[in-house]
Amino acid sequence: MIILHFAFIWVWLGQAGVEKKMSDEGKIIEEITGKIKSGEVQPWKAESVLIEECGLKAPEHYRIAAVSRRRVIEELTGYEFNYLELPEQPYLMQWRCPKDKSIWHIEARDQDTACTRCGASLEPFGEEGERYRPLANNYVGGSEEYYSYAGQIKVFGDVDKTFTNVLAYGPGFGSLGISVGCFRVNKLGGAEVKVAKLAGASRNLGYVFHGEEERERAVQAAKEYLPTLRAEMEEKYLAEFSGEVYEVDFVRRQHHGQCYLSICFHTRFEHARGHGDTSIAVGFARGRLDKKFEEKGVKYQQSLIAMGYDGDLKPSPRNRRGRYVSAQVELPISAYEKMSKTSIDSLLTYMEIDRQGVTQEQGHFLYSGMGGEIIPAIYRGTKVNPRPYNVSCTENVYVEIRGENLIYGVELPNLEAGATSSREGLICPTAREVLKFMGIGTSREFAAATAAITLAGEFNFTLLHLRGEMYVSND
Ligand SMILES: [Zn+2]
Repeated sequence: MIILHFAFIWVWLGQAGVEKKMSDEGKIIEEITGKIKSGEVQPWKAESVLIEECGLKAPEHYRIAAVSRRRVIEELTGYEFNYLELPEQPYLMQWRCPKDKSIWHIEARDQDTACTRCGASLEPFGEEGERYRPLANNYVGGSEEYYSYAGQIKVFGDVDKTFTNVLAYGPGFGSLGISVGCFRVNKLGGAEVKVAKLAGASRNLGYVFHGEEERERAVQAAKEYLPTLRAEMEEKYLAEFSGEVYEVDFVRRQHHGQCYLSICFHTRFEHARGHGDTSIAVGFARGRLDKKFEEKGVKYQQSLIAMGYDGDLKPSPRNRRGRYVSAQVELPISAYEKMSKTSIDSLLTYMEIDRQGVTQEQGHFLYSGMGGEIIPAIYRGTKVNPRPYNVSCTENVYVEIRGENLIYGVELPNLEAGATSSREGLICPTAREVLKFMGIGTSREFAAATAAITLAGEFNFTLLHLRGEMYVSND
C-alpha cells in the first residue's frame, strides 16, 4: 500500500516537471514567434537567439526554432499544419570515417552509421553539443524533403496576392537568399507579374511515305477530315479541362528517299497542364487518320507518334509546352546603385557576360542561373504535375532602362503546372497543404508565385555578386 502511494507521488511530481517544462517552452516559442513576426528576429536567426538569449542548449533549439517558424506561417496564413511532419530530432549529426577520414552529415534519426564508401563504422565527429547542424536553413518540417520558410512575396498585375513561401530547397543558403530577395522586392512595392491566360501542350503524329505524291494525297485527306477530327478530340478527351486544339501544323521533311509528314496538334488550357490528355487525344487521332487513309487508298509506310518534332524537349526555346510568365521589379537607377554599391554600368556588364556565356555554350539564350535551383525547390515543395520539373525550368533574366528607372525581371517562357490534385496528377496531402499555405489554388497562381520567387532570388544574388559578397575568398 505504502509503496503504491510513493509511486503515485513520483508520477505526479514527474508530470508537474513535464508541465513546467512545457509551459517554459510554450513561452519561449510564443516570444520567438512574436519577434519573427514583428521583424525583430529574422527567421533564420531563431536558432542563434534561442542559444544566446533564451539559454537553450544544442540540439534542442533546432526543434523549438522550427516550431516557432511553423507558428509564424500558421498565424500569417490562418491555416494549421496537419501533414508536414516535424521529426522529434530535426537536425543532423557529424560523423567521420576512421579509414578514409571523410566527414559525414547524417540526419539524427538515421541509424545507419556505416561509411557508404568503405563500410567502416563511422565515429562521432566534433565535441558532444558541437556535432549538430540544421537539416536546412529556415527548416520548418519534412523528412524526405527538407522544407524551409522563405518569407512572403507580394505580387500585382495579372495576379494580386501575397504568397507565403514554403519551399523544399534543401541544404544550402538558397532559401535565405530568397527570403532576403523577397524582403527587398516587397519594399520596392512587390513584383509585377504577367501570366499568360492559357498553357499549351503539343503532340506530333509522324507518317512515312515512299513518295512525295502519296504524301500530298495524305495531306489533302487529313486537311479535309480535320474539322470533324478536332471536334471529336476535344469532346472526347479535352473537355474535362476545357481544352482545345488551337492549331495543327503540317510539316514535310525527308530522309534518303523516305518522305516524312508531321501532323502536329497544339492544344491549350486555362487551368490545366493538359499534356497527358493531349497525348491521349493525338493517339486517338492517329487511329482515325490511319483508317481514313486506308479508306481513301493513301498508302503510308509507317504511322507513329514522333515526339522529336512536338517540342517534347527538355529545357529549350522550342519547348512548346506550358505557360509564359514574367515578374519584374522597378526602381530608380540611383536607388539600385546605392543598393548594389556600384554603378548601373556594372549591372549591364554583369548581365552581358552571362548572356554571352550562355549563348556561346548553349546556342540560345535561355539562362537558368539561380532559377535552376529555385524553380525545382518550388516544384519539389508543391509536387504539382509535372514531377520531372526540369521540363519547364528554362528562365531568362532581363534588365531594362526606362527613363530614370531600372527594370529587373525574370521570365519563364514555358512553365508547366497542373496545380490541382485530379486525374491530371495526384498531389500528396503534404504538398496540398504546402500549396494552401503558399496561397496557390490555380496553375496561374503557381506560375505567378514561381516567377516572383525566382525574381526575388535572382535579384538578391545579382546584388551579392555585384557587391563581391558571394563566394568570397578568405585570404
Ligand atoms: Zn570510409
